[in-house]
Amino acid sequence: MSEVPLEEVPLAQPVLGREEEELVLEVLRSGYLSLGPTGPRFERDFAAFVGAPHASAVSSGTAGLHLAIRAAGVSEGDEVITSPFSFVASANVIAYERAIPVFADIDPVTLNVDPAAVAAAITERTSALLPVHIFGYPADLPTLEGHGLPIVEDACEALGARHRDGPSVGARGHAAVFGFYANKQLTTGEGGMITLGDPAAKQRIDSERNQGRAPDMGWLDHDRLGFNYRLTDLQSAIGIAQVGRLAGMLADRATVAGWYREALAPLAAQTGLQLPCEDRDGDERGWFVFVVQVPPGHDRDTVIRALRARGVQSKPYLPAIHLMSFYRETYGTREGMFPVCEDVASRSIALPFFPAMRQHQVERVQSALAEALGET
Ligand SMILES: *Cc1c(COP(=O)(O)O)cnc(C)c1O
Repeated sequence: MSEVPLEEVPLAQPVLGREEEELVLEVLRSGYLSLGPTGPRFERDFAAFVGAPHASAVSSGTAGLHLAIRAAGVSEGDEVITSPFSFVASANVIAYERAIPVFADIDPVTLNVDPAAVAAAITERTSALLPVHIFGYPADLPTLEGHGLPIVEDACEALGARHRDGPSVGARGHAAVFGFYANKQLTTGEGGMITLGDPAAKQRIDSERNQGRAPDMGWLDHDRLGFNYRLTDLQSAIGIAQVGRLAGMLADRATVAGWYREALAPLAAQTGLQLPCEDRDGDERGWFVFVVQVPPGHDRDTVIRALRARGVQSKPYLPAIHLMSFYRETYGTREGMFPVCEDVASRSIALPFFPAMRQHQVERVQSALAEALGET
């Protein structure tokens, strides 16, 4: 290692600039900080980008998933089939409604829920499917749609992805939920968006995010149970600026992914390090993270420590949901139930990945990873 300490390569970094600042200032000076005109403008811009008929802005991806499964009619005791290889929010929202998350194992290549495992998990109590487009790779919606069940898509990692049969992720008509935390393809700090095709579902979601109030009702009249899941106008202003730079940010992420593939190909061939799958059958990934799986026989956490010692941030991504304490204790899930997910989850590392990443940083990650794998 060199004697001058190298600057750390961060895991993620948002792209923010003058446009965000100006739009936020405009909203701040207008005095309309929430429930003003900026939210609907963000919804229209976002829906147009994705190619969806409608969109509803919410306070987080999790809030969006919660409202979307309610709109899909999920209620107490229902079974909802989902992936155990996801951020925990996708399963938590099922628990919020006292429905039962039923996990189905994943495909070892795409890391998305395996359609055959979904088919095998369907019972007469199944009321919806909740596929996750993990790491931005489109889940097999054309096959899952064949069951005729309501579908809620967790698209929180998949902005910019496209399905093999044409539509962008989020434009199939099911409720699809995006998240805008600071590491996502588009950020509002915290925030989320539900895209959907059904105007009645939008009406219900818009009411439930605002305490159950119908658009034409007075402040104190509420015709259904609701929440405060609103996105502020300040956050929406950031979102509008981000939509403006989204095509460029997505292209930059794809460029960085290309550098990674090239830099890591020899190491993958030598060691069995597994890289993210290539696009296939016409499905297109919307790049969110660059996750690799360490070769069998290497200890993932030791590799993470070795990377950190070389100034490279990384993290285990993602842990299997069914092995988390809450799920074990509440639903009796345990080791051995979803072997593909468990194997992938035990070997996965998210490497630094963000639009402004430079090629020399990718090369530093590559050499750190080569050293780490040589040591462990
Ligand atoms: C980011 C993310 C969410 C939503 O997260 P919030 O922090 O609530 O916006 C949900 N599912 C997945 C797979 C995610 O990556």
